[in-house]
Amino acid sequence: MTNRVRGRFAPSPTGPLHFGSLVAAVGSYLSTRSQGGEWLVRMEDLDPPREMKGAADDILRTLEGYGFEWDGEVMYQSRRHDAYESALEVLKHDGVVYACDCTRKEIADSSIRGIEGPVYPGTCRAGARAGRGVRALRVRTDRAVIHFEDRLQGAQRSVLETDIGDYVVRRADGFYAYQLAVVIDDAEQGISEVVRGADLLTSTVRQIHLQQLLGLPIPEYLHLPTALNSQGEKLSKQTLANPLSKARPVPVLWRVLAFLGQQPPNDWQSLGIPEFWAAAIGRWSESAIPRQLGIILQAPE
Ligand code: GLU
Repeated sequence: MTNRVRGRFAPSPTGPLHFGSLVAAVGSYLSTRSQGGEWLVRMEDLDPPREMKGAADDILRTLEGYGFEWDGEVMYQSRRHDAYESALEVLKHDGVVYACDCTRKEIADSSIRGIEGPVYPGTCRAGARAGRGVRALRVRTDRAVIHFEDRLQGAQRSVLETDIGDYVVRRADGFYAYQLAVVIDDAEQGISEVVRGADLLTSTVRQIHLQQLLGLPIPEYLHLPTALNSQGEKLSKQTLANPLSKARPVPVLWRVLAFLGQQPPNDWQSLGIPEFWAAAIGRWSESAIPRQLGIILQAPE
């Protein structure tokens, strides 16, 4: 294993790239490249019901068109089920997961409210009820308190049991949960820094919890401000974010740099793609990124 910095971009192929996902790609790319590190791409195609046909290829072509250069082969989570299953076996062996047959409604009725809504009250901890069929596998959070220092957002602390509750690692429909897969794959790919949108900040404490349970290295984390529309909603397929223009990448990349507080000179908008990236890598300043969880975009993207 080298000591080189290794970053990654891990899109879910639920639709084309938009300005919000580009912020994560650019932030992780510039952070890693400005430290002379390697940058990997992982396709998080873990959730077929939510995926859009052709989106994975479209995302990769868009990244290429925008001049991103990744190291090694793209990893596809759809081909990694054995690795996720082995990790579940370890968690089962250690007695930290249990089967849960509660319905969505039963969970939504929980009177405990955490940072992401209702907290699962632990109904099935003592054993799933007979005759109802196993629905999901959950990790016991017990009394875990997770601390970490986000490189941008500062010190974070979470009492998992009341903030999040026992969380799902394999879903009732049989698919592996994002929280599990991301941890296994960040370790497999030797990722040393995770730079991504702050909408994932509340996921990070689950991921660190799993890294601890599985004895995996804990990367550094940096959560960038999330791009919001004028209603304060995260740009996403659901909020009908526009796909990125494939015709003129540099002005779009320039706007991402401005969003990330890098104050790019105006004349960079007319640079060629390689010149733009060289300039952006040379000028990257982590301390210039706004220390905010979200920023409302002034002009529609
Ligand atoms: N696949 C996740 C998403 O597109 C991101 C995962 C990550 O960066 O950890 O929201």
